[in-house]
Amino acid sequence: MVLFNTCCIRENADQKLYGNLGHMKALKDVRPDLRIVVGGCLAQKDKSIIQQRAPYVDVVLGTHNLASLPRLLREAETGPAFEILEQTEVFPSALPARRKSGWHAWVSISIGCNNSCTFCIVPSVRGVEVSRRTGDIVSEVQELVADGVVEITLLGQNVNSYGRDLDGTPLFAKLLRALDRVDRLQRVRFTSPHPKDFRMDTVEAMAECRTVCEHIHLPVQAGSDRVLKRMKRAYTRKRYLDKVQMVRDALPEVAISTDIIVGFPGETEADFQETLTLVEEVQYDSAYTFQYSPRPMTEAATYGGQVPKEIVQERYERLTSLQDAISFRRNQRHLDAIEEVIVEGPSKKDPARLSGRTRTNKLVHFDSGPAPEGSFRTVRISKVHPHFLEDSGRAFLRAGAQAPVLAARRRTSGEATCSSCN
Ligand code: SF4
Repeated sequence: MVLFNTCCIRENADQKLYGNLGHMKALKDVRPDLRIVVGGCLAQKDKSIIQQRAPYVDVVLGTHNLASLPRLLREAETGPAFEILEQTEVFPSALPARRKSGWHAWVSISIGCNNSCTFCIVPSVRGVEVSRRTGDIVSEVQELVADGVVEITLLGQNVNSYGRDLDGTPLFAKLLRALDRVDRLQRVRFTSPHPKDFRMDTVEAMAECRTVCEHIHLPVQAGSDRVLKRMKRAYTRKRYLDKVQMVRDALPEVAISTDIIVGFPGETEADFQETLTLVEEVQYDSAYTFQYSPRPMTEAATYGGQVPKEIVQERYERLTSLQDAISFRRNQRHLDAIEEVIVEGPSKKDPARLSGRTRTNKLVHFDSGPAPEGSFRTVRISKVHPHFLEDSGRAFLRAGAQAPVLAARRRTSGEATCSSCN
């Protein structure tokens, strides 16, 4: 069986898929018993088009019915089986999984999105937001921990609105607190919170929960109110900056990362300058920067004022060089600090060394004797770069439950203030 798990959020997904399916046709001609399956959100979006363009595909299934694959494969014994549902049947996390890592796991807490950002195709292909029951999530995490997992990353398009469809009110902070009580779980990360739904109760949970890491990914997308409005992001520059302040007041050492789109339709030089000044003001630890490209089935693809490619490229370069300088400056704060890292494996730059990640999500390359993946080491940062840190001494095995530096930096929620929430 060859299974194509597609994602139409990235550019050119369709050309890649139909190109690959073309190669499969020749293989299928000589091996008729070969099963070809197409799943994921391109299948959800294109629905019957795949069958028309590649009739030799055996199974097509959408984003909501991954669990139906065994049944569809049986049905495909007698002819192509095709099923695209509009509602999620079983959460992907609840299915048996072969995980790449023995110490880390991704855990879905919700699927779909109720927002309508004009550049994004997710709501069209993944449907409305559906949250998974808290008890199911906690049970899954307990099982993962029993299997040796020490770090989890909670996944949702907008984790901060988790639970609104279950209880009428967001339950994300409660979920963090429930997971914090799972014995032997060491680290909890999550991605992504939408800034408009990022609330004080989540910040308090981040500050008070032993397991929740001091890192937040808070996608801003643009710094200009005019562009944010055209993107339908539902917050202003000021409101976003207030949220950043809210989290920094509670967790002064928190690392903040973001997503930024350059060259959104109608973006002027003045708008772009506002993105640059926002980046300066926030001082992000890192940023994922994207050049805008229109996606079919999105509102922004129909907007006038598409920015010429060379201007987008030139703005992109200015933004990335500014962010690199800021990342380097932020990383300098870690010089000489003692940090706890979780070992991820041999360094890709130098396999004689190891790589690990701090609670603030900084990548550290360090010298060490052999150390199993998922174990903890304590490092002293001796050199910094924009995208990683180094310890050229010899890392030592963690003694306590948490690195002392981070424990000391963490403040209680009582000191946190919020000017923008509610
Ligand atoms: S919140 Fe995220 S997933 Fe939802 S529409 Fe906006 S960009 Fe897309």
